[in-house]
Amino acid sequence: ERLVIAMDGPSGSGKSSVAKAVAQHFGLAYLDTGAMYRALTWYCLQQQVDLTDADAVLAAAQNFPLSQGTTADVEMIEVDGVDVVEAIREPRISENVSAIASNRGVRDLLINMQRDAIKNSGYRMVAEGRDITTVVAPDADARILLTASEEVRLARRGLQLGGTQNNEQLAQQVSARDAKDSKVNNFTEAAEGVTLVDSSDLNFEETIDAVIKA
Ligand code: C5P
Repeated sequence: ERLVIAMDGPSGSGKSSVAKAVAQHFGLAYLDTGAMYRALTWYCLQQQVDLTDADAVLAAAQNFPLSQGTTADVEMIEVDGVDVVEAIREPRISENVSAIASNRGVRDLLINMQRDAIKNSGYRMVAEGRDITTVVAPDADARILLTASEEVRLARRGLQLGGTQNNEQLAQQVSARDAKDSKVNNFTEAAEGVTLVDSSDLNFEETIDAVIKA
């Protein structure tokens, strides 16, 4: 029986951990679409593509040698046979990913890859990102927007505005990325038919319960 769960939310909403737990709960495959945008950013940097050149970025995306696992318990992501699981979490990737994600042609390509992944799972998958509920899989069986207040999102990353200077800088980088992302996808308001789960006052278990019930 098909069960596609689409989950969107900003960085620090706890989306990835919650999505993985929900996939394990229902025995579903799991797709981290943010990791795809990150891996493409890694590839463009490795290929020394000028990130301000939209056509060059799109050309790189058209030849993107991505291999990505779809299980919630082990993260597998390779570009041209190179394991990039750790590299895609580096600050240089987070700083540059918006330049890739704002490219319309790139999005169309990755959206198609994401739809193929859902299809290849036999329509039994939790897919998480920024535009899954609205663009990639608006026909999902459950659609959830996971949010949390900015204060809580920063705190979950161990950051605080008004902390040390370094801390403050990191916090501002996270806020700046959210602001850039929300120009592409408005994930602060749930679209019609999408259930909003605000995890600001919920712990991990409570959040998973709320998602499972949605
Ligand atoms: O979720 P994560 O923080 O790993 O996503 C990295 C970036 O990828 C986001 O900041 C956003 O720019 C982009 N993204 C996107 N659409 C998605 C998933 C991620 O634009 N579905």
